[in-house]
Amino acid sequence: MQIKTAEILCVGTELLLGDIVNTNAAYLARTLASLGISVYHQSVVGDNPARMRQAMETALGRADLVITSGGLGPTCDDLTKETAAACFGRQMYCDTDSLEQIEAFFARRGKEMTPNNRKQAMMPEGAAIFANDHGTAPGLALEEEGRGVMILLPGPPRELVPMVDRWVIPYLSARTDCVLRSRNLHLFGIGESALEALLRDRMEGSLNPTLAPYCADGEVRLRITARGRDEAEAYALCDAEESALRKTEIAPYIYGVDVGSIEAALVPLLVEHGLTVSTAESCTGGLIAKRITDVPGASAVFPGGVVSYANEVKADVLGVDRETLAAHGAVSAEVAAQMARGVRLATGASIGISTTGIAGPGGGTPQKPVGTVWLGLSDERGESTHLLQLDSHADRAYIRTCSASHALYHVLVRLREKYPECR
Ligand code: ATP
Ligand code: MG
Repeated sequence: MQIKTAEILCVGTELLLGDIVNTNAAYLARTLASLGISVYHQSVVGDNPARMRQAMETALGRADLVITSGGLGPTCDDLTKETAAACFGRQMYCDTDSLEQIEAFFARRGKEMTPNNRKQAMMPEGAAIFANDHGTAPGLALEEEGRGVMILLPGPPRELVPMVDRWVIPYLSARTDCVLRSRNLHLFGIGESALEALLRDRMEGSLNPTLAPYCADGEVRLRITARGRDEAEAYALCDAEESALRKTEIAPYIYGVDVGSIEAALVPLLVEHGLTVSTAESCTGGLIAKRITDVPGASAVFPGGVVSYANEVKADVLGVDRETLAAHGAVSAEVAAQMARGVRLATGASIGISTTGIAGPGGGTPQKPVGTVWLGLSDERGESTHLLQLDSHADRAYIRTCSASHALYHVLVRLREKYPECR
């Protein structure tokens, strides 16, 4: 039968109590999405047969596929299999192949198999059985035209994940006629709510592709997901949506597609144009250098950087004028410009970037509150500076991360001004 919709049903009182995090649900949801199966509901139920039966009936009533995790173990509170068998009106039998595998699992570990482990070889009549390579409880699938498909998987992720890869994906691929593929547009300089406001009509109007914004550390990712009969068709739909989005007001904020981060977009661009960048960091304390060197191949574009936290280092190492420091303070446009120029000249880089600011929580003044950050950029055309006025109530980590992102972004923008053909 064809599967278009699924419900994930996780079994375990531990989940209801919040003792463990439901990572299986997230993993299963991602896997189903990649197969083009829509998940409209996820639920969690404890180890209680009546409530589990009810949850299974509800799920079977509204989805083509129900996929469960947990409760396949040997103890008497592991009831998922028996309850599923009852839902499908199937008797239980002892599957000799599964029993042999469970015996072999114990033998390999030199352990005695306890009688209750036989329970794990008991299967509903007519089930497709998925061997467990990393534990004792096999998984299984029950299928009945008009009723639906139910797949039962063990709870421990180190057993569930390999079982999904080896058995469940091939099983489901044979029962779907489409795939989902995504492209991520990376945006900078626009907030999630502003983006949503600009795209509300598009987001509500389209089921294929769908648009979903995600916000993290001051950056926004807009995921375009399309469903197609095959990969080529799904990507073609994503590409058409991307082209349409590039004609909207969000276009200026898009800095890359499937690039992962600003630095990951920046480093290849520097490589392509034979340019180098060096860093002079005060409030970001080396974060920009860290992020550039996170990108493989950074050695071709990054000669080095200076963490110039103290004024002496700004003056002695970077050549910032002491009078400028005294007259304007370390957090100033003048000092940011001199830091960027100083590090560019000291390292021989094509571009120098600098940060100097107040990351908090202390150190703010009415004139320069926490979140005041000056960025400097120096290249063969001279120096430019930018003032960031970040949220003074934001925490230190956020201010530092955001400052580093802005600095990297300014370099990217500068390159794009210089080389408008690069996208
Ligand atoms: P076992 O044979 O270990 O009893 P089981 O299939 O009966 O396996 P559960 O007893 O429900 O599964 O869960 C066993 C363990 O698996 C839990 O203690 C927990 O560590 C992990 N686990 C169960 N469900 C989830 C879940 N949804 N997400 C993440 N981990 C889970
Ligand atoms: Mg168990």
